[in-house]
Amino acid sequence: MSDVFQQALAEALPLLQEVQKGIKSAPKASQTALKRLRKAATTRPAAAVQPLPPPPATEWTWELLEKAILGCAKCPNLVASRTQVVFGVGNRSAELMFIGEAPGAEEDEQGEPFVGRSGQLITKIIEAMGFTRDDIFIANVMKCRPDMPGEESGNRKPKGEEMATCLPWLREQVRLVKPRAMVALGATAAEGLLGETRLIRDIRGTWLDFEGTPVMVTYHPAWLLRNQTITEKRKVWEDMLLVLKKLGRTITPKQERFFTTAAQ
Ligand code: URA
Repeated sequence: MSDVFQQALAEALPLLQEVQKGIKSAPKASQTALKRLRKAATTRPAAAVQPLPPPPATEWTWELLEKAILGCAKCPNLVASRTQVVFGVGNRSAELMFIGEAPGAEEDEQGEPFVGRSGQLITKIIEAMGFTRDDIFIANVMKCRPDMPGEESGNRKPKGEEMATCLPWLREQVRLVKPRAMVALGATAAEGLLGETRLIRDIRGTWLDFEGTPVMVTYHPAWLLRNQTITEKRKVWEDMLLVLKKLGRTITPKQERFFTTAAQ
């Protein structure tokens, strides 16, 4: 919409409202003018939907990126429903990144990824690997909680288009962190990050690639919480052993045995 038309619209709207309320009588308007008015009225206000213009990749700094992500308004429905943007947390020079799908209610409330039940389990896994949570950078494909119209609790799977809209932010985070490896947690994270639609059981335990960074896909902690058998825990643990090997970490015999019957 041109500036001139936008200005005309700003002047015309209050007058039209007065006509609607019966304060003024209706002016004559051509069909073309009415069509243009209709179009303008159904176009969202620019400020509500336009993200900050992304500078070229080489110019991103953490400061700029954080400002841009926290102010992102690309998805008006999520802007309207979120408590806050969940940027990501941890070591900004980490050698390992953990990537989830999207913040849930608790993450939206606290502004930090993986703080709920799944988060407690991920923290245990990170510690079993010999790291602390602060050693890793933890983020999600989506920076906003998927909206839940009419629902206070629960989560919904982010839509493909929502993840595609948000992925550029994660891409810039990865470019700045420069991890040596990443772990994608669950099928939705794998889909959002890598476009993967294969089942986790068919892709876990093998290295995939995100723009030059090796990615291990494994089960989401929420899935593990629902399937607490030693066999399933071992599968995730074996994926983590592969990650430790990729990072050149020494694995202790005790770590090798986690979740095997020999460890019991
Ligand atoms: N599940 C995710 O994928 N991400 C979170 O931050 C929390 C739960």
